[in-house]
Amino acid sequence: METTKCLIIGSGPAGYTAAIYACRANLSPILIEGPAPGGQLLQTTEVENFPGYPEGVTGNQLIEDCRNQALRFKADIRPGVVTDVDTSARPFTVTLADGSTIAAQTIIAATGATARYLGLLDELKYQGLGVSACATCDGFFYRKRVVAVVGGGDTACEEALYLAGLAKKVYLIVRKPYLRASKIMQERALNNPNIEVLFNTNTEGLFGDEYLEGAHLVEHLGTPDERHYDIAIDGFFLAIGHKPCSDFFHGAVDTDAAGFIKTNAPSTATNIPGIFAAGDVADPAYRQAIVAAASGCRAAIDAEHFLLENA
Ligand code: NDP
Repeated sequence: METTKCLIIGSGPAGYTAAIYACRANLSPILIEGPAPGGQLLQTTEVENFPGYPEGVTGNQLIEDCRNQALRFKADIRPGVVTDVDTSARPFTVTLADGSTIAAQTIIAATGATARYLGLLDELKYQGLGVSACATCDGFFYRKRVVAVVGGGDTACEEALYLAGLAKKVYLIVRKPYLRASKIMQERALNNPNIEVLFNTNTEGLFGDEYLEGAHLVEHLGTPDERHYDIAIDGFFLAIGHKPCSDFFHGAVDTDAAGFIKTNAPSTATNIPGIFAAGDVADPAYRQAIVAAASGCRAAIDAEHFLLENA
């Protein structure tokens, strides 16, 4: 079986940064790209908050730059999807979807997370044309326009508040008659004159010629008060949670209830010695490319130290 000192799983900013650092530490890492090479950045249009790009950069370009930088240091980047990791003994046996196996002395899980969507076909139709799952990434494009945020948790309130500082008006579409967010975030959202909270409301569809122009909503679905109506919006932001991509560990690595891998902060070490986690798969709070890149750096340094101490 092929053996590596360091196997990196994932090809977003965390994975590529880990690869750059691991290469420069002579760990000769193998990086497995995963099912959606490039990760969430490929779903955003312009990235304007990543230092080093004063004029902004597309998500595609940013990922390509990260990849090229890893290649410059001879990272062994391979297409593939990890389906299983045998964590019972080191080196860990990593199985890929094509049935091949790699023995890895250390693993850096940088598999990211995927935003949850409502499951409407229109969300795909208007992806990048008005639909987004990241206000911090895309909110700037909706200055002085009208947007909607879906969700009633802390993320939804936070995104609505962020957008309220940019947009002309923000609808917060909440399916229940109350917000699930922490009290302080609820109060901020409810008291913001730019935010109109639509309780008991679900989204049935989106419309617009080329770009998004509005949403079909239903209030009090399935009750005698059921009411269908439309709102005119330029942006539709999903904030109904994220699903971390940690299933391939099949429970062997400790996660929180939502599946985010637990790390021994400030280290990126997990409960299994030799397995490290970086980026959104271990980050329920920040979910920013720059934070993911930084944690990829930490994971590679942690793996290097681990190998020195456990040669
Ligand atoms: P949450 O799971 O807390 O909230 C998800 C929200 O989306 C809920 O209001 C839920 O509604 C709603 N929702 C889920 N599915 C649907 C659907 N199909 N249609 C409509 N609405 C839906 O996720 P968050 O991302 O908000 O937060 C995740 C964790 O991160 C939480 O622990 C949160 O506290 C934390 N966090 C903390 C922050 C901070 O402290 N600054 C910032 C952001 C997040 P319902 O209530 O009806 O289930």
